[in-house]
Amino acid sequence: MSKTSHTPTSSFTKELAEIPGGEGINQCIQCGICTASCAVASVSDRYRPRQLIQKILIGKRDEVLKSDIPWLCMTCRMCEERCQEGVSPAEIFQAVRHLAVKEGQVPSTFTNVADQVLRDGWMLEEAYSDFIEDDREDLGLETDLAFDAEFTQKLRRKYFGGEKKK
Ligand code: SF4
Ligand code: SF4
Repeated sequence: MSKTSHTPTSSFTKELAEIPGGEGINQCIQCGICTASCAVASVSDRYRPRQLIQKILIGKRDEVLKSDIPWLCMTCRMCEERCQEGVSPAEIFQAVRHLAVKEGQVPSTFTNVADQVLRDGWMLEEAYSDFIEDDREDLGLETDLAFDAEFTQKLRRKYFGGEKKK
């Protein structure tokens, strides 16, 4: 497998190559095999791993860090398996996400979910309706899905320094 390293074309590329996971970006030759192999790309025209790497290579720092696209990678690593240059878009996009977190650029879809888990202890408290409870009862399943609120409170206090918001 070729390991040719190309000259970085932007300061953003150099910056990312310094972050763990981002090192391989200089080896990308923009062949597009990653996009052709990607399960997310197969269901969404918005998600194109090759194109996202291209934006990094040409230095579109703001656009990439403010975008929700790097957050759509499900890290299946099929792209990594097939890339003939030994590049891992999954690792590169993880490095992008780390940088985005450091700069407070996490898409609200994800912060909302994190807030919800910190508040309720799980993601589905609001969705757990009487209808679902009845269905579970009919199916002979456990209906008391009460989360360990005390444990959630301890986590919140320890790592986020706050009490449960209601
Ligand atoms: S990451 Fe690999 S597969 Fe994707 S465009 Fe670059 S060289 Fe091709
Ligand atoms: S790791 Fe991400 S970019 Fe690579 S194939 Fe899977 S979803 Fe697509």
